[in-house]
Amino acid sequence: MGKIYVVGFGPGAYEQMTERARFAIENSDTIIGYKTYVDIVSGLISDKQIVRTGMTEEVSRAQEAVKLAKAGNTVAVISSGESGIYGMAGLVYEVLIEQGWKPGDSPEIEVVPGVPALASCASLLGAPLMHDFVSISLSDHLTPWEVIAKRVEAAGMGDFVVVLYNPKSGRRTRQIEETQRILLKYRSPDTPVGLVKSAFREAQHVVVTTLEDMLNYEIGMLTTVIIGNSSTFNYHDLIVTPRGYQRKYTLSRDGGRMEGQPRGLAPSPWSLDATAPIHPEFLPELEVAVSPGVANKNFTSFQMMELAKLAGDTGTITYTPGHELILKIPGGNPDEVSHRLAELGLLVSPVGLKAQLVACDFCEGEKTESIPYAEELYRLLHGEEMPNELKIGFNGCAMACYGAVMEDIGVVFRRGFFELYLGGKRGGCAPHPGQKVAEGIPPENVVEIVKSIVTEYKQNAHPKERFHKYMKRTGEVAGYLWDGTANAKEVEPVCGD
Ligand code: SAH
Repeated sequence: MGKIYVVGFGPGAYEQMTERARFAIENSDTIIGYKTYVDIVSGLISDKQIVRTGMTEEVSRAQEAVKLAKAGNTVAVISSGESGIYGMAGLVYEVLIEQGWKPGDSPEIEVVPGVPALASCASLLGAPLMHDFVSISLSDHLTPWEVIAKRVEAAGMGDFVVVLYNPKSGRRTRQIEETQRILLKYRSPDTPVGLVKSAFREAQHVVVTTLEDMLNYEIGMLTTVIIGNSSTFNYHDLIVTPRGYQRKYTLSRDGGRMEGQPRGLAPSPWSLDATAPIHPEFLPELEVAVSPGVANKNFTSFQMMELAKLAGDTGTITYTPGHELILKIPGGNPDEVSHRLAELGLLVSPVGLKAQLVACDFCEGEKTESIPYAEELYRLLHGEEMPNELKIGFNGCAMACYGAVMEDIGVVFRRGFFELYLGGKRGGCAPHPGQKVAEGIPPENVVEIVKSIVTEYKQNAHPKERFHKYMKRTGEVAGYLWDGTANAKEVEPVCGD
């Protein structure tokens, strides 16, 4: 009975070849392979018949191997790396199957696994493949480019680390440019990228660069490209992808640590040595929203300076449409941060799907009559967890220059009484103001009314259901009817939101 070893000989260096691969090559009568590869293993071959073929003659290589093995020979078909990854293993099986071969028939087949380029190249870069990754060959020789582009797109979307085989050749240069363009839609330009040419061979060359700059370096047919995911980072000349993600956290309404209230994902700290300085990428991030007051829109210079100190060199401060600053503090200690913010006299609230009271500035304190009601609503509802973001606009006079009527719930104070607007939609593809559902509300009733509306929405809405959708679906909230007349001209949105 003849035998075919389909051998992956690893990246190229003798020491990187498995014992079994060496055995297979040494114990075969004939070695078949692309000439460069045969030269790489030539040290193991002395008196053997050698069939060297060109790069594109893979099918004839497989056919030749099957023919010789059927005649009773032991044949080694060699691939670089792993023969089952863009190598010869599949082709040998395809040729055999076409000829009606079944397992147990002659010739016997043994696929000898080898170290694939994705592993050898990753090892030279550090540890870029520590989390989910995909491997994509950019050669459109056997796969239509549309299929490859779709896979790159999916890999970008799925935040996979991406390994690119066959990235570029003399004639084929467009694919790597297109791949960079697609991935930049999903990933930061700073994403670490490793280019490894001829790993474990004489001409080995390793470049650590970024997604933005990678095309400024030589990339060829002997290069494997490894592109990090959103949490991959550089450490000196190394590329490391953290092994997992952990949850970010925010503060609860009273400033304590909010348990069970995840805020997205950050790279995980797996530090084995708790005393070692932790790389900023690894620090769990504290996110917290801060404002100077309900009616007061002015931060003092001192408060601003202290906020900057809290954010530190690695944190960020972002201004939001909800009149708050969001502080993102890597490694922020919740107790210390909330204590300091309270000392500074700032209002603190959690980040996430919450109720937000967005009040006007009451004409910089000239129209103060309704402020106590805004403050009471803030105290009762601001920061309360909701099915989706819920904005309560509160304006202290009929000018309503802060646009309360555009919010989910709008409360406008006019000549001693309140008007109530429900179901406004500030953005999206069919924005509209809320519908006026009541006017002449005595001030002493307004807090109770708004609270009952918010409570009902919180209890009855579907997860993620926006307030205006909830109103449209139910036609009523807390006894206020929604007849849709405010939106009589509204056409069915086409964008689906
Ligand atoms: N069977 C091989 C892949 C063959 S496809 C494996 O498992 O690794 C050929 C591609 O593999 C090349 O274009 C290059 O992207 C990659 N490659 C193979 N050997 C390599 C090496 N020593 N260094 C860098 N990349 C290599």
